Amino acid sequence: MPTNLSAGVQAFTSNVFLVTGDRDVVVDAGANYDVVAAVRDHGVTPDAVVITHPHPDHVGNLDALVDAFDPTVLGFDGVADADRALADGDEIRLGDDDYVVLHTPGHEPHHVCLYSPAAGVLFSADLVFANGSFGRTDLDGGDRETLVESIDRLADTVAGEELTALYPGHGPSVTSDPAADIDLAARSARFQ
Ligand SMILES: [Zn+2]
Repeated sequence: MPTNLSAGVQAFTSNVFLVTGDRDVVVDAGANYDVVAAVRDHGVTPDAVVITHPHPDHVGNLDALVDAFDPTVLGFDGVADADRALADGDEIRLGDDDYVVLHTPGHEPHHVCLYSPAAGVLFSADLVFANGSFGRTDLDGGDRETLVESIDRLADTVAGEELTALYPGHGPSVTSDPAADIDLAARSARFQ
């Protein structure tokens, strides 16, 4: 189970998930706190950092992580600071499972979600949050219609699969029927 290193942190930061196993990986770098110390507390040296999208609250701590652990930085094609450009449909290993990269723009053009059908786990970043909340589209590069399409795609992708956990970029994780939160977000994003 991923650990949210940002839990309890009072700062303008995204969630930061440490996924350990075959390959120790950090999902998003967070911002404005000592994430390196938080990683060290777990006694691991991350092999990679995945940037779900390059907003300041997700990448502020990236330089510190790179300086401390020299990880491979992965981000969608066009993300500055990425050592390896991800494309839609790529598979990457996080912990003990393979995750599919889903290009899901709308909140931000380079936004990706990470989904493991085998593990039943979805990192939804700033597309879908708990309780059917969804990412804002009023920032640079944001677009509501595109966001709705991305949420629909997410709903289609997990439909009929055993989704057991959703780890969003902000707020609490969802471990009880996360697909319902995605469906609710798809409906809400059309009308709000
Ligand atoms: Zn964002």
